[in-house]
Amino acid sequence: MKTLEELQETQTQHVNDYVNNLLETVESRNPNELEFQQAVKEVLDSLVPVLVKNPTYIQKGVLERIIEPERMITFRVPWVDDNGKVQVNRGFRVQFNSAIGPYKGGIRFHPSVNASIVKFLGFEQIFKNSLTGQPIGGGKGGSDFDPKGKSDMEIMRFCQSFMTELSKYIGPDTDVPAGDIGVGAREIGYMFGQYKKIKGAYEAGVLTGKGIGYGGSLGRKEATGYGTVYFVEEMLKDKGHSFDQSTVVVSGSGNVSIYAMEKAMQLGAKVVACSDSSGYIYDPNGINLDTVKQLKEVDNKRIHEYVKEHPGASFEIGCSGIWSVPCDIALPCATQNELDKEDADILVSNGVKAVGEGANMPSSQEAIDIFLEKDVLFAPAKAANAGGVAVSALEMAQNSARIAWTVEEVDEKLQEIMKNIYRKSLDQSEAYGVPGNFVVGANIAGFVRVADAMIEQGVI
Ligand code: GLU
Repeated sequence: MKTLEELQETQTQHVNDYVNNLLETVESRNPNELEFQQAVKEVLDSLVPVLVKNPTYIQKGVLERIIEPERMITFRVPWVDDNGKVQVNRGFRVQFNSAIGPYKGGIRFHPSVNASIVKFLGFEQIFKNSLTGQPIGGGKGGSDFDPKGKSDMEIMRFCQSFMTELSKYIGPDTDVPAGDIGVGAREIGYMFGQYKKIKGAYEAGVLTGKGIGYGGSLGRKEATGYGTVYFVEEMLKDKGHSFDQSTVVVSGSGNVSIYAMEKAMQLGAKVVACSDSSGYIYDPNGINLDTVKQLKEVDNKRIHEYVKEHPGASFEIGCSGIWSVPCDIALPCATQNELDKEDADILVSNGVKAVGEGANMPSSQEAIDIFLEKDVLFAPAKAANAGGVAVSALEMAQNSARIAWTVEEVDEKLQEIMKNIYRKSLDQSEAYGVPGNFVVGANIAGFVRVADAMIEQGVI
């Protein structure tokens, strides 16, 4: 007779084999899509304990279905540049999972965008959106268009062409895009205008991240960065720490980074470094956020210009060097895989206490393993950066009800949502025997809601 423990061990081995089989299928079915494979592996590996406990998820084929997008759209985006030359880019929208609501997720304009990037982002979005508790499914889109150096009119023509095709597949109850890297309020405005013209109707809820004057939500712009800091603050509080008096490094200088810096500063932290794709600035006196906002939100300039106004600061070429700046808290808020094993080692040897991911999948798997091994508090992107899409869902709610909440009302709801995500992730990590492992906790909490909904809705 086998003991209970032995039986559990065999069971875990079976589930591990099953998961490894699935991962092999993902690799052979999506060859060369390394980012997508990475995102799926991270989630599936962490689901093993929940599958051991609830074999129904295996019996009902939930995993086979959740790793395959419901729909993937690829399209041509032709546009005319300022010299009258025809340019062609590639557009994507992945409609990954609609079990708990219309597909929801941003649009990214960046030369690195391809099927793998869009699918990894769409896959992550399923679990992130589920964690928010809001009724939103997972989707993502984008184009390999590079907005850098383009005129305003070129941006407008590109956005219009992109939307001319995308408009066939989206709508307030089907799929609701928003911004991401390279797509902010200006681009959303141009896309919304084109959608409205094509449909001949004012469907405010078709896009989020809109301008405040025509259906946007107060607090949406700040939501991702603020939300990341709210999550990390909860995590720190449980261990008797806080942002107050801490030294913080925040990579990036886009929307997520700027508002993560702002909230960290409001909570009493000193932010000493931030970056863009050319390199990073280090200011031992603390970053002057007004200067960064002026450079990045208004003048569209490179981050090295900062040192002209603040001679006490320095600029270093190359972005990954930012992780060698000693800090108590590191917030990677730039892009995927920006923080690898070596960076994690340096952060740990410099005594980092907490890492919170504002970007999507900024840490490599090896880097995450190091943080967990060395007991660094680690807030994974799906949980820590869910504030942006959460407030997008609040924007949809306001649009449906034709009302507008005050910034205080939105911020209060955001704080509540981030605290709930923290609690859910912590509870699940404890329930599955890895207390404080928010990677496992967030993946399980996000998965269970979607998986149960998929089972209830039958095999579709
Ligand atoms: N792009 C953001 C994210 O990664 C926001 C998506 C949204 O608001 O729909 O979650």
